[in-house]
Amino acid sequence: MIKSCYVHIPFCKKICSYCDFCKLIYHKKFINSYLDALEKEIDSKYQGEVLDTLYIGGGTPTCLSYEELERLLKILSKLKLSKDIEYTIEGNVDSITIEKLELLKTYGINRLSIGVETTNLRFLQLLNRTLDQEKCRTLVDYARSIGIHNINFDLIYAIPGENIDDLEKDLDFILSLFPEHISTYSLIIEENTILGIKDTKNISEELDYEMYLSICKRLKENGYIHYEISNFSKPGYESKHNLCYWKNGEYYGFGLGSSSYIHKKRITNTRSITRYKEGIVLAEEELSLDDEIEYEVILGLRLLKGIDLRLFEEKYHHSLSYYYDVDQLIEEGYLQLNNHYLSIPEDKIYVSNEILVKILQNRK
Ligand code: SF4
Repeated sequence: MIKSCYVHIPFCKKICSYCDFCKLIYHKKFINSYLDALEKEIDSKYQGEVLDTLYIGGGTPTCLSYEELERLLKILSKLKLSKDIEYTIEGNVDSITIEKLELLKTYGINRLSIGVETTNLRFLQLLNRTLDQEKCRTLVDYARSIGIHNINFDLIYAIPGENIDDLEKDLDFILSLFPEHISTYSLIIEENTILGIKDTKNISEELDYEMYLSICKRLKENGYIHYEISNFSKPGYESKHNLCYWKNGEYYGFGLGSSSYIHKKRITNTRSITRYKEGIVLAEEELSLDDEIEYEVILGLRLLKGIDLRLFEEKYHHSLSYYYDVDQLIEEGYLQLNNHYLSIPEDKIYVSNEILVKILQNRK
């Protein structure tokens, strides 16, 4: 049963130097025709399910004008939402306004995900971003005052030239605003980005690891639960939407380049705006049982709590150890059993990819 939905708004006012996402420079003339295509896609695919999570991501959804944002929210009001919906929109400080916050509140948005990334002027320039800290503070206070109480901040670390002190300053700022949720990203420079083209080098693995440990320590000291490799929340504020992905649940993905997981099929929309407007899907992959189980393991072990083995058995009619030989990895301390959960110990979660390779090689 589908209970989650992602909607992609690919437009940004400028392009960050590390950006590898599906995005386009905002031009007023593109927006209405994009929203027409989005509405058409929703009308043709949505089957009337009541959603527990709705996530408007991008791009920068808040870079739409007030009127464009209102049109988007009207289109999305066709979707049926449960009483305790987690309804998120991503945005950046530049493009959020008091008026837009009020509009978002009117349409039921109750979670705001703000791309803070860094507070350091030098690194903001390197990333081709800006951050007005005072405006950020005002927007967060205002959002809370009108009832948008669930705030996420995105933080980027491992920026070339960054050291632990720089990172601590970013954390000082973020923690001073008491967000309910913090998502962290280690900057990986991809070839086809501005930084990649300029041949900018990643920081060393040792420093990256040191920064990761500093983040975990500092956020835990401040009452955050480290619940997924890169995500932290106050108790009860784990991202329900992302938990749907990590628990291998089904979801709709509407918009340019977005993916859906529906009835054992992974469907990916085209990244070409012209083709998207023609209703073209890029790929449709029917998952075999093996694929499904592999996704379940790869995604589930991102969570510190791990995979619920009882649910796994209910879903796949056999225990996980019927499919994978994990005993040796448990003995070696790469995996642990806690009640009926199988997880990667927290001190090894940083190298989870290497552990996943070992697990997948142990397919029976
Ligand atoms: S705001 Fe996000 S999507 Fe837009 S360019 Fe920057 S990183 Fe990419």
